[in-house]
Amino acid sequence: MAEGRYGWIRAEARKALTLSGATGPHEIDAIRIAKALDVDIVDGGLVGATERITMIGGRARIRVCDQIVLKGRRCFTIAHAIGHKACGHLIEADGDVNRWIDAACSGRTKQDEREADVFSTEVLAPAAWVRPYCDVRRVDLDAVHTIVRDFPVSPVMAAMRFVELSTQACAVVYSEQGSVRWARGSRSFPRLVAREMCIPATSIAREWFGTSVIDTHVRAGLARSWFPDCARVEDRAEIFEHAMLIPEPGWGGVLSLLWIPQIAPRAERIRAAKKIASPI
Ligand SMILES: [Zn+2]
Repeated sequence: MAEGRYGWIRAEARKALTLSGATGPHEIDAIRIAKALDVDIVDGGLVGATERITMIGGRARIRVCDQIVLKGRRCFTIAHAIGHKACGHLIEADGDVNRWIDAACSGRTKQDEREADVFSTEVLAPAAWVRPYCDVRRVDLDAVHTIVRDFPVSPVMAAMRFVELSTQACAVVYSEQGSVRWARGSRSFPRLVAREMCIPATSIAREWFGTSVIDTHVRAGLARSWFPDCARVEDRAEIFEHAMLIPEPGWGGVLSLLWIPQIAPRAERIRAAKKIASPI
């Protein structure tokens, strides 16, 4: 799907935010955004799904699972459902109560799901408002915790947004039982951390699986231990890992934020390239 479609969805998210009256991070409220778009929210009565959006008469209604404990995850669930409406996806008419038991988004295409996620990410953590939080000299979870403090997002979403918008060479890695479940890298990170990859024995995340003790300090190691055969990583380049446990039910793994300071931030590299390219 062309970036143009995602650009339009992000613009719709910003419009919805303005309609809800939000003028800064602390005023972002999923319920107010729903109200601004004429969407009703109902809690509970949902099994096997986090949310379901249906039409009753001419009005959309989102039913939200009441088992969701983290505020950030609840907000994301509501914003994701609003995203389906904002993106013009098909919304079924409200039917028999037993139909709530069906998994909410199981019938939707991956593209529809991706679009609803793009909407919810931009509406809860708009790039223009999050970017200043990513402008740090040292990459660690402090910036992620600050985003969680100021925006209605979970630690996982805050970390993903941080690496998406950061110019530094950093990545977020979620691991369980000593192997990578998923990872996202910033645009200047040398390579994607492979799924199912065994995490290094010297990492905080690996230590947790052996000892059930999480080291909350930033730990330095060799980048080579994560990327043994990557040509863009020098043998002596350091990597910094800062990790936290994810307490969400159904998760229970470790989130590691990785940073390779030796690789210059993207903006600096672009400036340096321009300098070389420009005639004297
Ligand atoms: Zn969905």
